[in-house]
Amino acid sequence: MQKTPTAVNFSNLNRKSVMEKIENEKWDVLIIGGGITGAGTALDMASRGLKVLLVEKHDFASGTSSRSTKLIHGGLRYLKQLELKLVREVGKERAIVHKNAPYLVVPEKMLLPVLKKGQLGKWSTSAALSVYDYLADVQKQDKKQTLNKNETLESEPLMNPDIVKSGFLYSEYRTDDARLVIDLLKAAVKHGATALNYLSVEGFVYHDNQIAGAVLQDKINNETIEIRADFVINATGPWVDGLRKIDGSLKKKKLHLTRGVHIVVERKKFPLRQAVYFDTLDNRMIFAIPRERVTYIGTTDNTYTENIENPGITKSDVKYLLESVNRLFTQVHLKETDIESTWSGLRPLIHEDGKSPSELSRKDEIFHADSGLISIAGGKLTGYRKMAERLTDYIIEKKGLKLSENKCKTQKIKLPGADGLEDAENLKTMQNLWKSLFGENEQAVYDIYYHRYGLQLHVVLEKTARQIKAGLQPFYALLLSELEYAVHHEMIAHPNDFFIRRTGSLYFDRPYMRDRIDPVVARMADYFNFGEEIQKRWKQETMVAWKEVMEVKD
Ligand code: FAD
Repeated sequence: MQKTPTAVNFSNLNRKSVMEKIENEKWDVLIIGGGITGAGTALDMASRGLKVLLVEKHDFASGTSSRSTKLIHGGLRYLKQLELKLVREVGKERAIVHKNAPYLVVPEKMLLPVLKKGQLGKWSTSAALSVYDYLADVQKQDKKQTLNKNETLESEPLMNPDIVKSGFLYSEYRTDDARLVIDLLKAAVKHGATALNYLSVEGFVYHDNQIAGAVLQDKINNETIEIRADFVINATGPWVDGLRKIDGSLKKKKLHLTRGVHIVVERKKFPLRQAVYFDTLDNRMIFAIPRERVTYIGTTDNTYTENIENPGITKSDVKYLLESVNRLFTQVHLKETDIESTWSGLRPLIHEDGKSPSELSRKDEIFHADSGLISIAGGKLTGYRKMAERLTDYIIEKKGLKLSENKCKTQKIKLPGADGLEDAENLKTMQNLWKSLFGENEQAVYDIYYHRYGLQLHVVLEKTARQIKAGLQPFYALLLSELEYAVHHEMIAHPNDFFIRRTGSLYFDRPYMRDRIDPVVARMADYFNFGEEIQKRWKQETMVAWKEVMEVKD
């Protein structure tokens, strides 16, 4: 290894001292919300020298940012709404985010079939894709490809040949949204930010009617503290209006939440060769995306006004997605009983009178209240870096600093798993270490772990090697090493943080998760020195999460 990866100390084992620091220091900026918006902003602000504190009331990425379609995409459909500026910006962002985290943001060709009586015309789609490629500055080799009927069916033989007329391949990127958040936060911490999960903002502190801090509740130790900050940023996604209400500044523009649901089936049941973006029954478009041992399908887009803590999924969501799949992929015959997992998230969009959920703009906006509270809403996972840049520019100017001397640097900041990837030797050394532990035949598993961690996997593998040497079975050693890594370097505080947001097992490998609840709970309890009572509670809560993804409401 030319450069040994260093892992940041980012752990709830240090919670007490981190809490003391949070309480005793004065912060330039308090960011509320540990989703992609908060995490991206923390990195931008910390890298420009601001003293940043980010707090998250649950686990990082537990809101919308672990429940997206997991694409870094330009948003082809926004072309229809003539949102050219948005398409250009997020389209270009794709390549930047890929460059900074190539292990986590991975090129993915999308198949777009043109169907008989479908909503896409061959020529209009061809023109739209050319505009899309042009706006996003797509490289020559990645530009759209036009396919005839046979080529389209060869690309994806499961589609009904009677309704497929032709198709296109175009380029997007897939990611793991929750891991993108966690790696952004680790990068922010490396640049000097402080971030803590399970710490909720319950109220604000004011001086002369201007916001000057916040009241925070520690959800783990049930302790309440007050902190001081010059600027308070409300980056709480679907919860933005809730905090604006507490601040007394919920006026004029408000959020319009729309719910999006995904269902997951075993890849064996829906053996897609590649990702497809296709027509639904009601003239919308949804994705079917193969990933590891499953295929996931989504999303819906409906106005949502109920409990935002747990949006859940309904029978009509399931029916809609299954019927849309079965209509095009006629050999597949998916049934409700084939569903292995689901997730459901809320888009924090900005309300526009008279517009349906799908027509609402995905643009982001900053609201600066008279109280001083600065809220940010709207936007997409893909555009997080530009949202963060706009917000940081705004704060820099409000602080009276010169923008020309404090320019955004994130275009060039590599995420932690990419640190050292520029030297091919490092990757080779890590691959060889993997092979020495697991043999030559586990390439597919290696790929999953590589995309999860990038070069950070080397740290996990070194731990694994030690555990194997101590007599553990290789894959069991890998599990425990990954857990140790998550405890010390990825701030987990509950087994669900590990199973849902650090490894994605709840969504992508539910059977794997079921078999590992007991050892993970026991080992985590050892790290935190917790006894039987907490272990029992953790097991119950983990089982609740495991079952909840299968609960379909009427
Ligand atoms: P969130 O991720 O919800 O983060 C807000 C955080 O604030 C939460 O973690 C919450 O717990 C925390 N919080 C709330 N209140 C408090 C408090 N009082 N104190 C402390 N913390 C608090 N975009 C794409 O680019 N590509 C896609 O493929 C894509 N697919 C999508 C599919 C669906 C179904 C949905 C719903 C959205 C999709 N999006 C996609 C959009 C994207 O996911 C969202 O725009 C983005 O995740 C929003 O992130 P956020 O950080 O603003 O909000």
